[in-house]
Amino acid sequence: MNIIEFITHFPDEESCEIYLKGHRETTGIYCKTCSGFSKQYWFSASKFFECSKCRRRTSLKAGTVMESSNLSLHTWFTALLLMSATKKGFSCLEFQRQLGLKRYETAFNLMHKIRTVMGKRDDLYLLNGMVEYDEAYVEKATKRMVQDRLKRGKGSQKQAIVAVASESTPLEDPLSGKKGRHCGFFKLKVLGDVTRESVEVFVKESIDPKSVLFTDKNPAYVNLEKMVENHIKVKSSYESANGDLNWVHTAISNLKRNLLGIYHMVSEKHLQSYLNEFAYKLNRRYFGDKLFDRLFIASVYPYVQHSE
Ligand SMILES: [Zn+2]
Repeated sequence: MNIIEFITHFPDEESCEIYLKGHRETTGIYCKTCSGFSKQYWFSASKFFECSKCRRRTSLKAGTVMESSNLSLHTWFTALLLMSATKKGFSCLEFQRQLGLKRYETAFNLMHKIRTVMGKRDDLYLLNGMVEYDEAYVEKATKRMVQDRLKRGKGSQKQAIVAVASESTPLEDPLSGKKGRHCGFFKLKVLGDVTRESVEVFVKESIDPKSVLFTDKNPAYVNLEKMVENHIKVKSSYESANGDLNWVHTAISNLKRNLLGIYHMVSEKHLQSYLNEFAYKLNRRYFGDKLFDRLFIASVYPYVQHSE
């Protein structure tokens, strides 16, 4: 959905309510008392659903990312549009300005809630097939730097470690015979350290055990061969354009540019949140203006109930 279509479809609060109600009725409404999906009646005057079995009431926002938020649906919908409108993303100040929010914290929390949803959506999938893995070292803001921005340069030695993995399918051009790789989904997670334990937790949570994994020869990867179908150790390939770790290294360069260009410096506490947005958009790079619809679905998906 582009901005013109958005203005046409969602001019006010009522149009957003109708859309959200329709979507929730189509996907089913979960009743917490019955612990399941049940037939529900809509009460238009008070704007809630009522379970036909136990009479428990469920609000329009309940179970979605908007639950317990005082912001209007129209603000939420516009926020989803802004978050899906650009590849690179907005700074929080720009986001606050565009939405006309009085407080910076409101804009900050809103962005982070949406980024959390982006992360949860991507956590539903594992990478599979041929997968590249490496770590990125990104500069992070430290407390001292936040307190005294002038000292930013001096304190910038500290870096956060990010685990980066990419699906990477070998391709051969039938005409030229030129070999390359096609990238699929990506995963990016903050890694406390590069120890066997940390890397193995990431691989377990992110990569299908039937995959073929490509990494460099870091000793922390010694047990990875037991976690996947095949573990192939290759030379680190920052120099060669079509190396075995080309896609993770391309993603790492883009990530660093993105973090520096828009957010300048991110504290480690919030880094995962930015990674969620970066990976979500990277994984849906061909969606174009359908990204709003995908992000809307991700935002109203009842993650908590599904994992119970
Ligand atoms: Zn019920």
